[in-house]
Amino acid sequence: MTDTTKTDVLIIGAGPCGLFAVFELGLLDMKAHVIDILGKIGGQCAELYPEKPIYDIPGIPTVTGQGLTDALMEQVRPFNPTFHLNEMVETIEKIGDPLFRVTTDAGTVFEIKAVVIAAGGGSFQPKRPPVPGIEAYEGSSVFYAVRRMEDFRGKDLLIVGGGDSALDWTLNLQPIARRVTLLHRRDEFRAAPHSVEQMRALVAAGKMDLRIGQVTGLEGENGVLSAALVKGSDNAVSRVDCNAMLPFFGLTMKLGPIANWGIRLENNLIPVDTEAFETNVPGIFAIGDINTYPGKLKLILSGFHEGALMAQKAHRYVYPDKRLVFQYTTSSSSLQRKLGVG
Ligand SMILES: Cc1cc2nc3c(=O)[nH]c(=O)nc-3n(C[C@H](O)[C@H](O)[C@H](O)COP(=O)(O)OP(=O)(O)OC[C@H]3O[C@@H](n4cnc5c(N)ncnc54)[C@H](O)[C@@H]3O)c2cc1C
Repeated sequence: MTDTTKTDVLIIGAGPCGLFAVFELGLLDMKAHVIDILGKIGGQCAELYPEKPIYDIPGIPTVTGQGLTDALMEQVRPFNPTFHLNEMVETIEKIGDPLFRVTTDAGTVFEIKAVVIAAGGGSFQPKRPPVPGIEAYEGSSVFYAVRRMEDFRGKDLLIVGGGDSALDWTLNLQPIARRVTLLHRRDEFRAAPHSVEQMRALVAAGKMDLRIGQVTGLEGENGVLSAALVKGSDNAVSRVDCNAMLPFFGLTMKLGPIANWGIRLENNLIPVDTEAFETNVPGIFAIGDINTYPGKLKLILSGFHEGALMAQKAHRYVYPDKRLVFQYTTSSSSLQRKLGVG
């Protein structure tokens, strides 16, 4: 028989908002377990842009996606959360008032008093461009995310796309690649105008190439790319020599099993109230990119705020008989003891 883990709160998603929720719950004496489909902690920050700087975390002028993840891990350390990585939450059943039974695809079973869905856009997957045979190069010469910029040092790089990711990586990798070619199907870009200007200035200075067209085929052997075949607007096909290609065609967010949890959804997002970020099911909260409410901004700082308010309400479910006293970390010796600094 499968063992059941009993704990206070289960957080679905180890992105920045799930991680900060561990901290806010911990301050209020609630123990959290965290589950993530990915094999690592940090959600989009660690998976999609670990080396890119973020400039709008309050009080931290600049931090990379991985740097923020590391700092959040340091911040939650006093609360010793248990992480279950490479596991996907499959079912949530209400078995009490409130009490939930949650099961993962690995067969782990939890019984908890509150559930926090911090699942971002669900499981995110890059959109694959319609290029025949591209699968054979994925992971060796074709990459949908930049995990380590150093991997592209000295490479002939073909970056495909016209959005922020394509332009940002063009600008970030241009100084370290041997040559960068940006390819987009038209000479208009969705990316931030400032990035487009910077890219055009590099092209004008002869420091990188811009091509208009679409990739129709790849050349290479054993997963090692040597060139891409590019069809221009005049339908002529030419070769672009490259040994790495980064297509940025956006992400498909697959909601996955969340759709079957009996929670009200609106356009694949979870509507919540803005007092506690609770769903239509009492005891199930949704914070971060996965939720929606009037004025919602999909920013990390919004998810941090949502986590703080969520914890106040979750406390009522975990400790129905305890009164919650509002305290500051600067002045409360009880909070400081929990943080191991008092
Ligand atoms: C290129 C890029 C740049 C960005 N720059 C900024 C910026 O400068 N400032 C800013 O504030 N925001 C920025 N963002 C947005 C920011 O990354 C998101 O707002 C933030 O990551 C949302 O955090 P989250 O914790 O809600 O979700 P996520 O980071 O998406 O994490 C959700 C996690 O939940 C997991 N999950 C999903 N479903 C399940 C399931 N059923 N079971 C188990 N686990 C599950 C996923 O695997 C994922 O790891 C940027 C995003 C991108 C893509």
